[in-house]
Amino acid sequence: MKKHYDVAIIGGGIIGMSIAYHLAKAGKQVVLFEASEVGKQTTSAAAGMLGAHAEGEGYEDTFFQVGRASQSLYEKLKVDLRHESGIDIRTSAGGIMKVAFTEEEKQALCRMQHLSTFEWIDAGSVKKCMPQMAENILGAGLIKEDVHVEPYAVCRAFWKAAVMYGAEVKECTPVIEVKREKEALAIRTTVGTFTCDDLTVASGVWSGRFFEELGLSHSLYPVKGECVSVWNQGPALEHTIYHDHCYIVQRDSGKLVVGATMKPNEWQTVPTLGGIEAVIQKASQLMPSIKEMPIDQCWAGLRPATNDRHPYIGRHPEDQRILFAAGHYRNGILLAPITGEIIRDLIIGKPVKKEWLHAFRIGRKEALFV
Ligand SMILES: Cc1cc2nc3c(=O)[nH]c(=O)nc-3n(C[C@H](O)[C@H](O)[C@H](O)COP(=O)(O)OP(=O)(O)OC[C@H]3O[C@@H](n4cnc5c(N)ncnc54)[C@H](O)[C@@H]3O)c2cc1C
Repeated sequence: MKKHYDVAIIGGGIIGMSIAYHLAKAGKQVVLFEASEVGKQTTSAAAGMLGAHAEGEGYEDTFFQVGRASQSLYEKLKVDLRHESGIDIRTSAGGIMKVAFTEEEKQALCRMQHLSTFEWIDAGSVKKCMPQMAENILGAGLIKEDVHVEPYAVCRAFWKAAVMYGAEVKECTPVIEVKREKEALAIRTTVGTFTCDDLTVASGVWSGRFFEELGLSHSLYPVKGECVSVWNQGPALEHTIYHDHCYIVQRDSGKLVVGATMKPNEWQTVPTLGGIEAVIQKASQLMPSIKEMPIDQCWAGLRPATNDRHPYIGRHPEDQRILFAAGHYRNGILLAPITGEIIRDLIIGKPVKKEWLHAFRIGRKEALFV
């Protein structure tokens, strides 16, 4: 007989794991299928910034509100996950400093001035707390709430805690096919077929094939990001430095994570010399001494992008048993807690804000982001 679960999840990155954790904690019988190893794809490539402000385009829109809501969920999660899994997700203090080199960049940043979470710091004051910064900056916007976490630690903590609440996690078990039978959904994997009442597709940039196989058009494509980490030989950075999609993040271990390139439609996950050179070039304009620091390692990951840069979170328009949580692009670490809560609430029948469901609905006609 096929083994039956309340909910099956495809994909063991931070998004699938957050969903598994939230549902198992709510008492659902959950199984998660991961094609390779948990958290070892895009999740492990991330810097871990919770950049609700740093990444936001409009500071009033739904995406910003959802980002802020997810950011604040981390406050409680870090305590709960520590207790439930024994893992410290390594939340940093300090937040992000968005640097301006020109008057135009300063004006753009100061559009956040009305937010109580934003503070403009002049060049002299920036240099006082971060003497490593380049001489020619005009100043920086400091957003203390945009802290960072260790992405793989968060994913592992969700995993351990989900298992503690009874979830089954099957690594090295790719899902081959989903069959929509009348009485239940049948999930065919390399180790057999399982059935479930509800299914969530959370397989990152690889979710595209499931949209297609389940009769939906979609716009999921990879945006490759290359990073390098170096051993910081100077004083630890008090804040993450951020400018024009380039960032330098201080890790507890003494390493600095420096990222990242943006290469649309590249599926290859090996970093290139040219990519790493470009990252170092940009980072050294922010912090010249970085060029002298010993390299730790280089890597690349595939951001799951959609045309409007917003994720798909919600139900299949024609089959309520199937849900999607994919396309988190540059913000999957930030949005993992709220995504887990939204999918949980949809499945257990708790209300979810209508405007959130509308913004992230499956089958929306996205405008192309420029
Ligand atoms: C360089 C870089 C820096 C980033 N920095 C940040 C940051 O600072 N802050 C932030 O919020 N976000 C950041 N991101 C984005 C973030 O990493 C992603 O949005 C997030 O990891 C997506 O998580 P996921 O679980 O959807 O995908 P993944 O982590 O890729 O997980 C999907 C999983 O599905 C599995 N899978 C695929 N097909 C199948 C199948 N058929 N059956 C079973 N399993 C399958 C895969 O093996 C994989 O483990 C960054 C990304 C990159 C590349």
